[in-house]
Amino acid sequence: MKTPSQTNAIDFDSAKLQRLGFGQQSPLLERPLSLAQLRQQLSMQLQTSLEPQRILGIFYREIQRMVPLDALSYQHNSCDLRLEFGERGHHSVSYSLSHEGEHLGELVFRRNRRFDEQEQGNLESLLAALLYPMRNALLYRTATQSALRDPLTDIGNRIAMDQTLLRETELSRRHLQPLSLLMLDIDHFKRINDSYGHGVGDDMLKAVAASIKHQLRNVDMVFRYGGEEFLILLSNTTRESAAMVGERLRFAIEAEHYLAEGNSIELTVSLGCSTLQPGESADSLLRRADSALYVAKREGRNRLAMAG
Ligand code: GH3
Ligand code: MG
Ligand code: MG
Repeated sequence: MKTPSQTNAIDFDSAKLQRLGFGQQSPLLERPLSLAQLRQQLSMQLQTSLEPQRILGIFYREIQRMVPLDALSYQHNSCDLRLEFGERGHHSVSYSLSHEGEHLGELVFRRNRRFDEQEQGNLESLLAALLYPMRNALLYRTATQSALRDPLTDIGNRIAMDQTLLRETELSRRHLQPLSLLMLDIDHFKRINDSYGHGVGDDMLKAVAASIKHQLRNVDMVFRYGGEEFLILLSNTTRESAAMVGERLRFAIEAEHYLAEGNSIELTVSLGCSTLQPGESADSLLRRADSALYVAKREGRNRLAMAG
């Protein structure tokens, strides 16, 4: 008796010989495609993309020519990646993908009818076509993500900000939704570096980034803009709501307890807030937030100023 859940760990290197010999004499002759043909077609199709979502979507669609499924889920924890296709089924068979010791994620095939031995063999054989495309997609994803991240604070960098700002201004215009922007700058940050050293300064930057992320729902819209300046994009947010978010951030950062070598450090921030006007460019929106920030500094710091 088989249990509904069958788990298999596949190490593709050690299983390679076995796999290559498998399925040449497929009994599914009445089907339009042999296992070997499907595998070959899959290999070519899967190479056409570097997006995990698209690669797995093609895989899910194509393998059903041989093994009907109700659902496929994919998970890669350290890449923070989770993808689902189809509806859930009672029976499942899982595979842990690895290649040359590198973990490439977990796949779970599901359906309401149980999987027989033959079908499991077919799945295993077809999985081989997924290995290289998935590995390349994961490498590509890691490379592009690190190019868009600030390594110190682990939030978006300026490149990410420029891209996101352009995209969001476009979306805001198309959907006639408000878009606001907060520019946040730490007050007298130079004093912290001068008094405690650059290392402590860096720790403060991390703490401020963490506070901002903690306060906001959409952490994808927080960026490190300059040395000790942060930018927060607020989609579908009016001027009034943006001002409230800005004040909440200012209070949260001020209320935090910062310690350096046993000394408690007081830390405040100033903010400038702008809201996209009809026909306004991303550059102009940014400039107006910057001018508002300048006003907040001039008027005494630890405050928020609204762009005119
Ligand atoms: P203000 O209230 O007018 O903003 O004063 P401020 O001292 O914060 O402003 P200023 O722009 O004069 O100084 C910013 C300082 O931030 C200067 C620089 O040494 C420091 N800084 C910039 N990037 C980093 C960084 O990555 N790490 C550390 N520790 N300090 C940085
Ligand atoms: Mg500053
Ligand atoms: Mg500054």
